[in-house]
Amino acid sequence: MSDKILVFLDQNKGEAIPASWEALGAAQSLAGSFGGGIIAVVAGDGAQAAAKTAFQYGADQVFYSEAPVLSEYRAEPYADFFLQVAKEQDPEVILFPTTTRGRELAAMSAVDLGGGVMPDVSALEVQDGRVIATRPVYAGKLLAKTYSESSPQIFTTRSRAFKAPQADASKTGEPIQVQLEGISEDNIQTKVLGYSESEASVSLADAGVIVSGGRGVSNNPSLSAPDGMDDKEAEIWRAQQGFELVGELAQVLGAAVGASRAAVDAGYVPYDHQVGQTGKVVSPDLYIACGISGAIQHQAGMRTSKVIVAINKDPDAPIFKLARFGVVGDLFDILPPLTEAFRGRLS
Ligand code: FAD
Repeated sequence: MSDKILVFLDQNKGEAIPASWEALGAAQSLAGSFGGGIIAVVAGDGAQAAAKTAFQYGADQVFYSEAPVLSEYRAEPYADFFLQVAKEQDPEVILFPTTTRGRELAAMSAVDLGGGVMPDVSALEVQDGRVIATRPVYAGKLLAKTYSESSPQIFTTRSRAFKAPQADASKTGEPIQVQLEGISEDNIQTKVLGYSESEASVSLADAGVIVSGGRGVSNNPSLSAPDGMDDKEAEIWRAQQGFELVGELAQVLGAAVGASRAAVDAGYVPYDHQVGQTGKVVSPDLYIACGISGAIQHQAGMRTSKVIVAINKDPDAPIFKLARFGVVGDLFDILPPLTEAFRGRLS
């Protein structure tokens, strides 16, 4: 086993997603203890462009492939490609960004390489050559420090928990193209038929600011729904008016819109927006929770936000225990002037 650090870069059409550079930042924080260098691996259409940029973010060597079989992300060929590079490079530490692809590939790599995987880590330190990872357990109620006794030691780095290195345009290098061995379309079970566009305009995982709405967003009895609607339709209609207020604040702040599970289950907004244990895990600089009680499963997805603001009618709502700033009141009274105040300040 060498003391190299291997980092998988998740990219789309030549642009690495920010969490990939953060994983390189995490690698840099370990590089002083592992002298073998930082090696990045990237695949898919545009991989060469992302590979070139990776040098600016601190990679010492970059391996890439734009083979047609890797054009669309599919777990099987990506895992085989990654395994090929990992076997050749024999790293001691492997890092993936905690994206859907990163999680999937980390698990498959752990099986393929016989290593231990620790998902969703928010801090890494080295003690006696072992990487100690801090990661949430019990739905984020506790942070555990864990390590792997097997090698390679594999981690997925939580989005926004690690700083991406400052890009340095003077750092350049020539990425190495990988010739795939034994990976052919005939052996791949999954075929991609097409894509449908997601409604989210800002990615929740990468957002610096998130404004989220919960069941309370539908609770405005003074709004009378149009005639002919049954109770459920009227509830959704009211929620849509409420989510318009949430969306306006988000727009002014350049934020992403999140939601509780109660809000998505009730059909107020699509599932893409759900934050929590069974939704997205986020760590923005600012999280504004509107009409969300703060159930433990919701907290699991947002408790590592740097500043939490809660707007809720109920002064005993659990979200206030987590919030740095709490506003007790009706969100329908509070959001419009708050949005105007931000608009005035930011324009
Ligand atoms: P509620 O708990 O009903 O809270 C609504 C809040 O709005 C209340 O606090 C109320 O005071 C306030 N309110 C009402 N009207 C107004 C108003 N006009 N102005 C201001 N405040 C108002 N939940 C998640 O969010 N994410 C998950 O990933 C998730 N995963 C789960 C997994 C499992 C296995 C289980 C069992 C549950 C999960 N849940 C999850 C559900 C979770 O337990 C809660 O039911 C859910 O988070 C509640 O959503 P809420 O806060 O929007 O609704």
